Amino acid sequence: MKGGKLIIFSAPSGSGKTTIVRHLLEKSDLNLAFSVSATSRPRRAKEKNGEHYYFMSISEFKNHIKSDDFLEWEEVYRDNFYGTLKSEIERLWAEGKNVIFDIDVAGGLRIKRKFPDVTLAVFVKPPSVDELKIRLKKRSTESEDKINMRIAKASVELATAPQFDKIIKNYDLDTALEEAYQLVADFVGGENGNGA
Ligand code: 5GP
Repeated sequence: MKGGKLIIFSAPSGSGKTTIVRHLLEKSDLNLAFSVSATSRPRRAKEKNGEHYYFMSISEFKNHIKSDDFLEWEEVYRDNFYGTLKSEIERLWAEGKNVIFDIDVAGGLRIKRKFPDVTLAVFVKPPSVDELKIRLKKRSTESEDKINMRIAKASVELATAPQFDKIIKNYDLDTALEEAYQLVADFVGGENGNGA
């Protein structure tokens, strides 16, 4: 597989990485396209199949694993599988796009290892684990149980931050958005980047 660049945003759930990724997708000079992942988790009310995720059953997901269709996949939470289909990256590279990912830390680092020369891996750091809990509760897309599961995972994920190329502290959203734009522009050579 060959083509454009890969930009990975990884972080504990609730850190604001999805907001950052959505913001970057609006910047046309970056020429980004979102890598739509496959998942076996239930669809949330506002989510659309093929836009936010390719939603599928656990058995469908496992069939894709057997067929070696994934670039990477993880059972991020119990029975909630998430993965990047090789066909998705091939499709977006064929369109001449740089591909941006919103994926968990293990998956992000795995892609970085597979494509070290064309990948920028960014870790988004929340102010604290307590703040994460507050944000997840406010978002209210998950049950209390699931929130606790995500919080427990967050501490483990935070420890992987030094393995990423760059760390963005999301303490103030506007600052984080600007910082993220500049990092990606420098990497892909956007309007305000140096293309390094
Ligand atoms: P959510 O259920 O909140 O949409 O996502 C849960 C976690 O799974 C997030 O950290 C998200 O970034 C991650 N995730 C989404 N897609 C993928 C993927 O394709 N691979 C991996 N490894 N993680 C993913």
